[in-house]
Amino acid sequence: MAYKRSVYQQAKEALDQRRAQAERLGQQRRAEIAAQCPAILETEREMAACGAELIKVACRGEQVEQKIAALSQRNLDAQKQRAKLLQDMGYAPDYLDNVYTCPICKDTGTHGNYYCTCYLDLIRQTAKENIKGAAQLKKCTFETFSLRYYSDTPDPALGRSHREIMRRISDYLQSYADTFSLQSKSLLMMGKTGLGKTHLSLAVVNRVIDRGFNVYYDSAQGILDRLEKDHFDRNNRDDALQEDLYRSDLLVIDDLGTEMATSFTVSALYRLVNERMNDGLPTIFSTNLTAQELEAKYSQRLMSRILGTCDLLQFYGRDVRQQKACE
Ligand SMILES: [Zn+2]
Repeated sequence: MAYKRSVYQQAKEALDQRRAQAERLGQQRRAEIAAQCPAILETEREMAACGAELIKVACRGEQVEQKIAALSQRNLDAQKQRAKLLQDMGYAPDYLDNVYTCPICKDTGTHGNYYCTCYLDLIRQTAKENIKGAAQLKKCTFETFSLRYYSDTPDPALGRSHREIMRRISDYLQSYADTFSLQSKSLLMMGKTGLGKTHLSLAVVNRVIDRGFNVYYDSAQGILDRLEKDHFDRNNRDDALQEDLYRSDLLVIDDLGTEMATSFTVSALYRLVNERMNDGLPTIFSTNLTAQELEAKYSQRLMSRILGTCDLLQFYGRDVRQQKACE
C-alpha cells in the first residue's frame, strides 16, 4: 500500500518550488532593503556569525553554557536592531524573514526525524489531483451527499423508503472506505442514471486516498480506450498502465456498459477484471444497466466473475440531477 512513485516525486517538486519561491522573495526583499539601508545587512551578518559560532562552541567542551548564553544574547540584539531599522523605514519587523508556506519545516518537508504534515498533505493532494475528473472529486464527498433527493415514502415492493435504502448504502460505503484494505471486497453499484453512484464512488475514492492507498478511477470508456491504445499503438507503450489498472490498490470503473463494446474491449475487460480478482485486489464497478443487459453486452463469463465476487449495492430513487435542475 503506497501511492505511485510519480506522486511522491510531484509532491517533492511542489515542495521544492515553494521553498525556492520563498527564498527568491527573501532575496528580492534583501536587495530592496540593502539599497536603502546597508546597515541592516550588518545586523544579518552578525546573526549569521552568531549562528556559526554557536555550532563551534557546542562542539567544544569549555564553559559551553555561558558561551551559548552570550552568543544567544548577541543574536537577539542583532535581531532587535534589524527589526528597529526596518520599522524606522516603515517596513514590518519580520520583512526580511523568508515567508515559507509552512513555517514549521520551512518548506523542507521534514521536521526533526519526521515528515512534516504539510508534506503529507501535499502528497495526498497530489494523489487526488492525479485522479481523472479531479475537480469533480473535490465536490463529491460523503459530507456533500444529500439524502433529501430520495423519497422517504415507503416503497411497498421494497418494504422501506428509497431514502432509507440510500442511507444504508451511504453508511455502508463510509465504513467500507474507512476500513479499506487490500482484503476489502469488490463492489458492484447498480441503478438507473442520476442516483448518486458516481458521487458515492468518488466519496470512497477521496477517503481511500486520504488513508494512503493508490486508487485509479475512470469511466469504463476511459479505461478501455487506454487499454486499446496501449495494445494497438506499439510504438507508444503506456508505462504506467500496469501500475494504474492492474496493480492499483483500488480500481474504480464507472459507468460500465455505456462504452462501445468490441471483441477487443470485451476480452480486455475480462482480462483486467479476472487478473485483479485472481490477485485479490478490490475493484468497484458502477453501471446503469441490469445484470442481464451487461451479460448481453459482454459475456456470461465476465458477469459471473463480477457477480460471484462483488457485494451488490442496488441504488433506488429518481434522477437526482433532474431534480436539482428543477430546483
Ligand atoms: Zn511543513
